[in-house]
Amino acid sequence: MSAVATDNPASPAPSPTIRRLPPLLVNQIAAGEVVERPASVVKELVDNALDAGATRITVELEAGGIELVRITDDGCGIAAADLPLAPAPHATSKIAAPEDLDRIATMGFRGEALASIASVSRLSIRSRTAAEVGAHEISAEGETISPVRPAAGPVGTCVTVRNLFFNTPARRKFLRTPTTEGGHCRDIVESLAMAHPAVGFTLIADGRTVLDLPPNQSPRERIIAILGKELEPQLIEVHADHLDDARGLALWGMAGLPALARATAKGQWAFLNGRPIRDKTVQHAIREAYRGLIEPGRYPTVVLLIEMSPAAVDVNVHPQKLEVRFRDQSMVHSAVLRSVREALRAADLTPVITSPGGYVPRAGEERAIIGVGTAGGSGGGVGGRGFAEHFNRVQPGEVGGRLSYSAIREAVEGLGPAAPQAALPPQPQAEPVIAPPPRPVDRVLQVHNSFVVTQDEQGIVIVDQHALHERVMFEELIARIAGGKGLESQRLLAPATVEATAQQIDRLDDLAPLLTRLGIELTPSGPRTIAVHAFPTFLFDRGVEPEGFIRELLEKAESDGFSPTSEETLHEVLDMMACKAAVKAGDRMTEAELLELLKLRDTVERSSNCPHGRPTSIRLTIRELEKRFGRA
Ligand code: ADP
Ligand code: MG
Repeated sequence: MSAVATDNPASPAPSPTIRRLPPLLVNQIAAGEVVERPASVVKELVDNALDAGATRITVELEAGGIELVRITDDGCGIAAADLPLAPAPHATSKIAAPEDLDRIATMGFRGEALASIASVSRLSIRSRTAAEVGAHEISAEGETISPVRPAAGPVGTCVTVRNLFFNTPARRKFLRTPTTEGGHCRDIVESLAMAHPAVGFTLIADGRTVLDLPPNQSPRERIIAILGKELEPQLIEVHADHLDDARGLALWGMAGLPALARATAKGQWAFLNGRPIRDKTVQHAIREAYRGLIEPGRYPTVVLLIEMSPAAVDVNVHPQKLEVRFRDQSMVHSAVLRSVREALRAADLTPVITSPGGYVPRAGEERAIIGVGTAGGSGGGVGGRGFAEHFNRVQPGEVGGRLSYSAIREAVEGLGPAAPQAALPPQPQAEPVIAPPPRPVDRVLQVHNSFVVTQDEQGIVIVDQHALHERVMFEELIARIAGGKGLESQRLLAPATVEATAQQIDRLDDLAPLLTRLGIELTPSGPRTIAVHAFPTFLFDRGVEPEGFIRELLEKAESDGFSPTSEETLHEVLDMMACKAAVKAGDRMTEAELLELLKLRDTVERSSNCPHGRPTSIRLTIRELEKRFGRA
């Protein structure tokens, strides 16, 4: 029998024909990347208005932008002769040659936005330059672009986008409710407005003005206007003036107190040269700066405005330009981490007990919340210092009406990214960061053997004795380890024996380097036992039993993410030690011990929160007491 198969393999499909796609389809594919929803239209059009040097931008929405988005600006306008090119693909006035891509100083540069939007909506543009006596108009729908016709209107540009995705039903189906889409549009406007405080922004949704931000605001005023006046006492200024190795980078921002942290990252904004970015490096640095101040899984409220030479960053890596690539990522990380950390260190982070309405004579119920708010942190006055002041001084109109990022950029550009430590911008009054004055502690009372009550210049302070002691011990341990010394340890005359599983015994070699730093020595002593030969002296002194501690440590070592070489794991273990060694709730303390503990509150970093991020103390100010007793 022949081995040749008689059942023929399926005959190959005819080769598919390759064809060039028609321009409309090409643009719709491009639109798929750029135009996801009404908010993307808003972003692209506001970007264009900012690039045109507008001082006032009005955004109108109907049905959350699904039916209509209209952006009106008072920028430079588009000349009648150029109007047909504006909605054409790959047509831009912002770059001309390949080398321009290396130093992009405008929000847009791809020349794709209007063409993409036109391919999936009904678009019209009315514009007039200062040199023209009248305005002109053009409209585009799908492939057809109308001839230019005269129109009436002031200098500037008005772009109207109707019926988004009318010709791409699949896309339209993915849109959410008008309320949700409108919310996204508002987020975009707020975010761009934060980055451009010199430009006035108005947002009108279905005929109602929902946002009205005047031009010429300082960055501080603008951020407060958007975040809400009531948050002002809980925000501290961040700046990088004091960083001498932040080469070619300027940074200013506002950081929320730990109590302002939220369950999502929605309270975080980062801007690079006026462009909102989502950047892992920046996000990581922020998280690091707050480590130990907020509970894991929560996100601090932070706004950061970063300025760098356009040559030091590649913005041509993401279709919506939300992601960027820094040439010197570690410098950016360190600048953000250090400036935010420094601002937090210099401020008094003790949460204040506040009552929302103050004293209310007839109110039956207690309305106190453990709120938030600093009691006068030293994080900088109104307007800020250094960079912030530079921001404030720059008048719109200097450079096309934009908040003059370009002025900063000029300063930065001369130096280039690799210039030897060019601190920027000029920093006439780079004051040293002032630490809060030590609090005089005189009277102290232990309540229910758990809380310590004392007074300071602002009122009453209540301390959680365990939380504070835990933080103090944790910081001491970190300092000792950072100094290169391991923890001092004591040898056991008779080794303690700990029961262990075979896997735990196998893991010992792996853990050895970490254990050595901690002053712990373990060896296998049987098929199911481990011997403890050495144990940290301070844990002995605080009455912590080796057996229980080692058992817990071995269990911890089996959890996900435990890595004997990582800094995070080291901190976790040190915290475990601090927690075990600290005084407990219910431990009676002598007056001398209480005073000693309170004194440490001023010497230790981040003493406002325990290593898990919970507060160690809260404050009731005299003002609040006066309010509650109806004296204020
Ligand atoms: P890009 O912004 O990447 O250049 P767009 O498609 O967004 O591409 O815009 C194309 C061109 O139309 C811009 O380069 C600019 O010259 C012009 N333009 C668009 N919007 C405006 C506006 N609001 N004011 C002045 N010119 C504008
Ligand atoms: Mg554009």
